[in-house]
Amino acid sequence: MSLIERAIAANRKNAVHHDPSLANKPAPKVAILTCMDPRLNQLLEWLDIKPADADVIRNVGTAATEDVVRSLMFSIHVLGVREIMVVGHTGCGMEMFSEDDFEKHLHKQCGVWAVAPDKFHFYTDVNGATQKQVLKLRSHPWIPSDVVIRGFVFDLSTGELREVTPKEANNRLAA
Ligand SMILES: [Zn+2]
Repeated sequence: MSLIERAIAANRKNAVHHDPSLANKPAPKVAILTCMDPRLNQLLEWLDIKPADADVIRNVGTAATEDVVRSLMFSIHVLGVREIMVVGHTGCGMEMFSEDDFEKHLHKQCGVWAVAPDKFHFYTDVNGATQKQVLKLRSHPWIPSDVVIRGFVFDLSTGELREVTPKEANNRLAA
């Protein structure tokens, strides 16, 4: 049986015990931008953050893209989130290719060139890449300066979270 078929069957059993209060309006306290990597699926647990308290926004490589900002607009300006964590991680797949190599890889796989996506957000240094995402969000005109934005790298071998928030982001906070 495929995993999706198993999931559908499991839902039929589990829906009986569902907590209907989950239909109430969400009230997240923090937004977390992180990687879609399945090794990070227990991140909230490791940070002792209750699922109800976090808007978790994920994509490959923890990239602060236009669509991430779109989600954050809802977190901040509709749901009242005042803190954002950007969590990169060690050993990310985004270190495996360059933009050019990956485009060539896709061409080889699919046999055609395509106009989009134009950028895949590959990087060589997770600290620098995570800092850059923080600064991209920090300078966004629709993210108020009193919203805290802090960057971290999660080390998958030690389980430790290391802060990498760049100085410029802190200066903006202190100002
Ligand atoms: Zn990753």
